[in-house]
Amino acid sequence: MEKTVLLRCPDYDAGLIEQKIREGFEMLGGDAYIRKVIPAGSSVLLKPNLLISEKVGSPALTHCVFFEGVVRVLKDYTTKLAFGDSPGIGSGRKVAERSGMLEVARRYGVECREFKKEVPFSLDNALRCRSWNIAEDALNCDVLITLPKLKTHGMAFFTGAIKNQFGCIVGAQKAGWHTRMPNAHDFCRMLLDLNTVVKTAFAIMDGIVAMQGNGPKSGDPYNLGAIIMGKSLSAVDSVAVRLIGYDDPVEIPALKEAADHSWGAVRPEDIEVLGEKIADLKADDFVKARAAGNFFFLGERFNNLLTRLFAPYPALIKPRCVSCGRCVEVCPETPKAVNMFQGKNGDTLPVWDLKKCIRCFCCQELCPAGAIKIKQTLPGRLLKIK
Ligand code: SF4
Ligand code: SF4
Repeated sequence: MEKTVLLRCPDYDAGLIEQKIREGFEMLGGDAYIRKVIPAGSSVLLKPNLLISEKVGSPALTHCVFFEGVVRVLKDYTTKLAFGDSPGIGSGRKVAERSGMLEVARRYGVECREFKKEVPFSLDNALRCRSWNIAEDALNCDVLITLPKLKTHGMAFFTGAIKNQFGCIVGAQKAGWHTRMPNAHDFCRMLLDLNTVVKTAFAIMDGIVAMQGNGPKSGDPYNLGAIIMGKSLSAVDSVAVRLIGYDDPVEIPALKEAADHSWGAVRPEDIEVLGEKIADLKADDFVKARAAGNFFFLGERFNNLLTRLFAPYPALIKPRCVSCGRCVEVCPETPKAVNMFQGKNGDTLPVWDLKKCIRCFCCQELCPAGAIKIKQTLPGRLLKIK
């Protein structure tokens, strides 16, 4: 039985978050437990979600005050504390600065690592991927603790403890993985392997204000008031998705893969939830990315008529578009599945070629204006393909 802690925390108050995390560790076994996670003398790398440049308090990012609460606790167990991420676009340091995290890190003497240098790594007994190029900082730390944000996600439905380590792939290399793994289940098996590579030791999830709807960048905040923590990434994610209305956690592709390959605890009967009861914090009106389920029968690549008829697709919310062209920049396909065209009224707007689109939803994820949504086709809607 895998132990996971669910804590109620209504506000971004560093003192309260610190207190809650200390209570959580106490429930798991106190100092002796933490010492197993962080052996004496170890260097610890914190991996927050710094997806994209956003201001303080954005529900797209791990909140800087949440980060502060975590740092206050972990400083008692290591003198070598650092944090880092590689955002989808731009510099990790700049994202950390705008989000408020860099200022917190400076105050507490936590080093900022920009995931720039990558090193090769070969994984034996991989579920999907043996050969890797990984951020050196993530590979070489003694202990990696992930600090994910609880959010919806266009392709994977949900992003939390398992998916957060995708930021350990450096910069634009991430796009290449989408091209290699256009099927969500392959992609999620890759994510499980990635966590084995970087040996993610513990997760403390920021679910105080979660993101619902058009996540992981352009959704709306949802006051969930939850912190989830534990050694098992799949167990932490399983608790998180049940909080936001997926009663069967294997509806989420990463959790289905984790369960099918006995990678970690997923099913409710295999997880002991300490602290709050899921039912007491459950969000009944949380807007999911879209209901999960039968979308993934669609096969390896979305390149035939059947899949084009049924697969959800990226679509423009025209009034929001600022014609920046980032959607084209981040599209991993060659040639691009989206390009900028000038319309009759002079506007330059993105136009998608859905025959080429692999539905990775990187464009939707990284659009700075929240101008892309995921739409279902008419036949898909009629047949209730989600
Ligand atoms: S859809 Fe978004 S990313 Fe694409 S051009 Fe418009 S604002 Fe930029
Ligand atoms: S157009 Fe968007 S969803 Fe389609 S392949 Fe390119 S980035 Fe992915």
